Amino acid sequence: MISPGERVAVAVSGGKDSVTLLHLLAELGEMKKFEVVAISIDEGIRGYRDRSIRVAKENTNSIGIEHVTGEFERYFGETLDGMVRLAKRKKMSLYPCTYCGVMRRYLLNKLAREVGATKLATAHNLDDEVQAIMLNYIRGDLSRLQRLGPVYFSREGFVPRIKPLREIPEKEVAVYALLRKFKVHLAKCPYATGIHTEIRDFLNGLEARHPNSKFMILRTFDSVKARLSLHSEEFETRSCKICGEPTSSDVCKSCKLLGELGLLRP
Ligand code: SF4
Ligand code: ZN
Repeated sequence: MISPGERVAVAVSGGKDSVTLLHLLAELGEMKKFEVVAISIDEGIRGYRDRSIRVAKENTNSIGIEHVTGEFERYFGETLDGMVRLAKRKKMSLYPCTYCGVMRRYLLNKLAREVGATKLATAHNLDDEVQAIMLNYIRGDLSRLQRLGPVYFSREGFVPRIKPLREIPEKEVAVYALLRKFKVHLAKCPYATGIHTEIRDFLNGLEARHPNSKFMILRTFDSVKARLSLHSEEFETRSCKICGEPTSSDVCKSCKLLGELGLLRP
């Protein structure tokens, strides 16, 4: 996933997975001669993200890693909490995780590119990845399914993404973080509800009754994906007409969502 001489941006929220990934990559970077820089995205979820970013910063400070933060409020003109309130006032149905996910990916890519990163590492563990596989099967979202994998090379303007913890069960990451006494933020996001939670509970029940199910779902998905050649999404990279970021259509998804909320800056 990483070669000597690379500059790897690690997405660090302050949770157990990203803090563990940060420490592991920082240690591996010393041995294998690559650089590590941390990126945190502050979506503006009061009482949750502010605390987790404080923990992320304590970790990067303790090991002397460069750390940049991108705030929704600064880049999009509103916090996620503010977007949720705005949507309520406008009587729009807004699923916070959709806005959060799209805009967080947008900012992570932008900041990773701006800090000169050659890879962007995210801390998705086995549980996260299998949940994403199930969710996108249920939604029939082939485009997202083809982006799931250990390494995702996209197009110009997109920093290649890697998921070093993709085969490690969430419980093992938690135990490792505990044994290493890492400082982590353990609270749950107040917006974490809906189908994601149901899929997680279903998979945990399945794993408890039939051990190794999660890993088998991942392995089967990888082999089906390879056989179906679901790996190269054909799209031409363009620049978003509004913000200039790379996108597959005229206007990027973030600008579309901001436009619906009336938050696009003139
Ligand atoms: Fe964002 Fe949803 Fe995750 Fe909360 S649960 S951090 S809103 S994606
Ligand atoms: Zn845009």
